[in-house]
Amino acid sequence: MTDDILAVARTQVLEDGIGLSEAQTLGVLRLGDERVSDALELAHEVRMRWCGPEIEVEGIVSVKTGGCPEDCHFCSQSGRFETPVRAARLDIPSLVAAARETAATGATEFCLVAAVRGPDARLMEQVREGVKAISEAVEINVACSLGILTREQGEELRDLGVHRYNHNLETARSHFSEVVTTHTWEERWQTLELVRELGMEVCCGGIIGMGETLAQRAEFAAQLGELDPDEVPLNFLDPRPGTPFSGLEVTPSADALRAIAAFRLALPRTVLRYAGGRELTLGDLGTRQGVLGGINAMIVGNYLTTLGRSAQDDLALLTELKMPVKELSKTL
Ligand code: SF4
Repeated sequence: MTDDILAVARTQVLEDGIGLSEAQTLGVLRLGDERVSDALELAHEVRMRWCGPEIEVEGIVSVKTGGCPEDCHFCSQSGRFETPVRAARLDIPSLVAAARETAATGATEFCLVAAVRGPDARLMEQVREGVKAISEAVEINVACSLGILTREQGEELRDLGVHRYNHNLETARSHFSEVVTTHTWEERWQTLELVRELGMEVCCGGIIGMGETLAQRAEFAAQLGELDPDEVPLNFLDPRPGTPFSGLEVTPSADALRAIAAFRLALPRTVLRYAGGRELTLGDLGTRQGVLGGINAMIVGNYLTTLGRSAQDDLALLTELKMPVKELSKTL
């Protein structure tokens, strides 16, 4: 019975550490508004029990912005849509400076992101130089998000010391073709399997609010459960001007909070990270509710093409909530 789903989750997830199934996740996503705070409370207990009180703080930087040949309908960096984002590349000194600034906030992860289908020789060269320069100058873990990888590229990234690779499945397999037509969900899955096989940590999440049904939201959580990533960045659609999804509505806060709780209950041990769109969907109050509802990682500062909350605001919130920022020594 749907009404009992939180009682079931208390035993199955909190006590036994077994994530919710697809049908059970759907039960949480369908809870009435009056149960949302109960769901978040349980999700928070699960996160404390299976992940601990620490929050992982991460920074991201765009090494190549805009002009992407793919057509992901949510993305203002696609070269196929008329958006205000212009193509640009970041030079190595700026990259090192950004890594240093990120490390100064206490962040342990610094992710190099490029708007590409997959890296070409020029991007691999830029990443090679960038990762080496950062590793020499700054104490921080370097992650990459460079799209679909060949085995050779994956091996090179691993050999450079890249310890985590982000590649989002974005949405449920059954909904993917409504979101992207220039590559498949399976191609993304293959890259994720390669990353795991090569020994890098797998970071894989997606975007809530792209016209998927609640059942597809639950399907996506189950597919992530099958993948079992080390980290899941959870975004909420920020409908960007000029993209095919510009007319979609912002996910209502209660739905976003239900999604946070449901994904935590489906993925009890993963690093569940707030990524883009949270300011828009949840505002300050919702951000606090999410961190008390299963989230245990945050991106600080600017996102790729939109401004996030300031790092100071986020760090002040963590201090107030007595959630220690995870130290670098504990992430290696
Ligand atoms: S592949 Fe990445 S950068 Fe390119 S359009 Fe899709 S989401 Fe945007």
